[in-house]
Amino acid sequence: MVKAGKNTEMLDVVVAGGGYVGLSLALALKQADPTLKIAVIDPKPAESLSKDPRASAIAAAACRMLDQLGVWQDILPSAQPINEMIVTDSKLRDVVRPVFLTFDGETAEGEPFAHMVPNGVMMPALYEAAAGAGVIFHAPDSAETFRNTNDHVALTLASGETLSTRLLVAADGVRSKLRDLAGIRTVYWDYGQSGIVTTVKHERPHNGRAEEHFLPAGPFAILPLPGNRSSLVWTERTADAKRLVASDDFTFEIELERRFGHHLGKIELDGPRHAYPLGLRLARDFVKPRFALAGDAAHGIHPIAGQGLNMGFRDVAALSEVLIEARRLGQDIGALDVLERYQRWRRFDTFQMGVVTDVLNRLFSNDNDILRGIRDFGLGLVDRMPGLKTHFIKEAAGFAGPSPKLLSGEPL
Ligand SMILES: Cc1cc2nc3c(=O)[nH]c(=O)nc-3n(C[C@H](O)[C@H](O)[C@H](O)COP(=O)(O)OP(=O)(O)OC[C@H]3O[C@@H](n4cnc5c(N)ncnc54)[C@H](O)[C@@H]3O)c2cc1C
Repeated sequence: MVKAGKNTEMLDVVVAGGGYVGLSLALALKQADPTLKIAVIDPKPAESLSKDPRASAIAAAACRMLDQLGVWQDILPSAQPINEMIVTDSKLRDVVRPVFLTFDGETAEGEPFAHMVPNGVMMPALYEAAAGAGVIFHAPDSAETFRNTNDHVALTLASGETLSTRLLVAADGVRSKLRDLAGIRTVYWDYGQSGIVTTVKHERPHNGRAEEHFLPAGPFAILPLPGNRSSLVWTERTADAKRLVASDDFTFEIELERRFGHHLGKIELDGPRHAYPLGLRLARDFVKPRFALAGDAAHGIHPIAGQGLNMGFRDVAALSEVLIEARRLGQDIGALDVLERYQRWRRFDTFQMGVVTDVLNRLFSNDNDILRGIRDFGLGLVDRMPGLKTHFIKEAAGFAGPSPKLLSGEPL
């Protein structure tokens, strides 16, 4: 990454965290107003960005935003559209898993409701575009501490360098250090589950079909990648997940096959395995004077609906729209009343998604026959109601409710 020299000038926005959210926010702001002075700080060197073996389900609305930001054409050749989705609910030992719910993968607008996108393609595309647009990078480095004066924030980096900025955005992930330093409290609970993420090759084509199998320990998702490959998000109790990830390939593959089944032929591991502890963490406030949270720093949710990053992209679209509008009106972009517009826009939606993912996880991650009967009746009902299914697809695609401009594919 470009290493900035000692910076004594006043910056407009410093984004702490060059993940998907931090990079896309910096890019969106710089594209809309090239006179803005924007810096991104991240401990990761640029060379590591293409090495992330994971993939993410990116909803149609977020794809429109990435297109508007000029990076989608670099991502699309490596992305896999999701053409169909099925949901099952069964015990691990059940030989047959009846399908309770099916979705066609297109929104009413005729575009796939989501694409599977390799992280190792999306991150470099965002980084190159942001660097090309003139965003200043301080990497590898990290935000250590900050002090809010009346008219700016003074930020100290781990390298000892100091930066002055009108607005500091914390996009430093779910364990955000800056959120804690700002004194913003969170609501948090641990699910006692971890999500094992890995990639498999299989003999037969998936035809763009995504599968979510609700098993007693939690959802097991098979998500299509280009070619005969799929990305897995496999939820287990945390102790079991640790044991599985540490086990030898033979043991891991046997356990994997029990859950994956044989419908795609012989399967083979095609990437490393990692387990991520799962919890719900919601920030009580999204903003303070000259300070805003975005992405997982504001909300860490269960991956049951594949919406975590999509929520982060919604933050990017809403925050950039609010800031650019304020800038055009000659307002101070770090002023609390400006930032509160962003908070009003995003907080309810975030809370709602946190509750939905929490309830779904509690309802489905168990082996209770009565609950299974009730939920399978519910899934069957939804399956017979095309109007409701269209509504769910619109929600998953990110088109429900008033959308910020970037998510509708419009420029700021
Ligand atoms: C198992 C699993 C599967 C998932 N699947 C999906 C999916 O399919 N679709 C989806 O939408 N979401 C998914 N998610 C959620 C998604 O991964 C997150 O929502 C997303 O990574 C959040 O992006 P972010 O940029 O906010 O944070 P992060 O990706 O965590 O990035 C934070 C960045 O901040 C940097 N940083 C940390 N500390 C500092 C500091 N002090 N100073 C400067 N920089 C710092 C880090 O190096 C990092 O680059 C999944 C999550 C899990 C656990």
